[in-house]
Amino acid sequence: MRYLDFIRKQKEYVPPADIPQKGHIDQLFETRTLTRDALRYLLESEDERTAEYLFFKARIRQKETFENKIYLRGLIEFSNFCRCDCKYCGIRKSNGNVQRYHMSREDILRCAELGHMHGFRTFVLQGGEDLSYSDDDICRIVSSIREKFPDSAVTLSIGERTKESYQKYFDAGAERYLLRHEAAAPELYRKLHPQAQTLENRIRCLYDLKSIGYQVGAGMMLHAPGQTLDDLITDFFFLQKLQPDMIGCGPFIPHKDTEYRNEEAGSVELTLRVLGILRLMFPEVLLPSTTALGTIDPMGREKGILAGANVVMPNLSPRDVRKKYMLYDNKICTEDDAVQCAGCMNQRMKAIGYRVVEDRGDAPRKVAQMCRKKSEKRIDGA
Ligand code: SF4
Repeated sequence: MRYLDFIRKQKEYVPPADIPQKGHIDQLFETRTLTRDALRYLLESEDERTAEYLFFKARIRQKETFENKIYLRGLIEFSNFCRCDCKYCGIRKSNGNVQRYHMSREDILRCAELGHMHGFRTFVLQGGEDLSYSDDDICRIVSSIREKFPDSAVTLSIGERTKESYQKYFDAGAERYLLRHEAAAPELYRKLHPQAQTLENRIRCLYDLKSIGYQVGAGMMLHAPGQTLDDLITDFFFLQKLQPDMIGCGPFIPHKDTEYRNEEAGSVELTLRVLGILRLMFPEVLLPSTTALGTIDPMGREKGILAGANVVMPNLSPRDVRKKYMLYDNKICTEDDAVQCAGCMNQRMKAIGYRVVEDRGDAPRKVAQMCRKKSEKRIDGA
């Protein structure tokens, strides 16, 4: 479907009388869950009427919680060193073709400063599992950002660590942590990762993060090599159990230096259907419309928002390092600078009837908790 047709259709959408799978979508809308079989039917359906109705219902839930607000996350890819060897990843340890870099605390702060000037109120510090930064280094980076920009949040996305390390980062001011579980089906996880990297440890990390009090983000790769629809449904059930605050889901895209170089990339259609289902299962979750989706379709990020997502993550990394942080091939926005990225995103969201807001964009559960604490303080002080 062409972009403008897609936008117009979503804006003017009136549900037709005959929608295959309507009962399942309505049930998901009301109860936030479905059986494995019903989810499989929804994922398998190639009927446009089903997809449009799913997105329509997803937008109702999206707007109930977030109105037409879109939250910006400024991504700072501060190191492409990684001790891990995920088989699908372009910067994995054993890829000798990568030009490696680390950014200093000063460089990271400069990125945050530029982002703050352009309305960003969340900074996502993302890197491979680079142990050359000690826990104290990470804490110093986090606390410097929090001190300099007290109205902004810091999200870490630096992989699997011990609970003690996670606690230190939290105490230094990191309130959110992204750790995609990638695949909750044990066999698929084993296939995509070397033996030393286990699903058990991944899950242990996610629960440790939750118990410390982080706003936690999990998520999976869509259409990963060897992934079946049943595997994907296992991801949905895993997420229902975990109840994360954020879910990052993007299509698999092959990288030329991996054994999956000739595999097919994930499809826009499947990605959008998954976003729609996730919005109905988790009405309050923070759901990015990912750069990977924008890579497989020039209007992918807009389509993702219209399917239920409510977050975009423009890149704040300096231009000279962007091409070195290639998790997959043909990643977009590696030539633009941070200012261009922010401006472009504002325009894109405006064009589809949404507005980018200057806001930390905390998880609604966290916002409610903060409000409760404030009013308790007021009562204590009265
Ligand atoms: S996916 Fe993450 S943990 Fe795995 S190799 Fe790539 S950067 Fe490292």
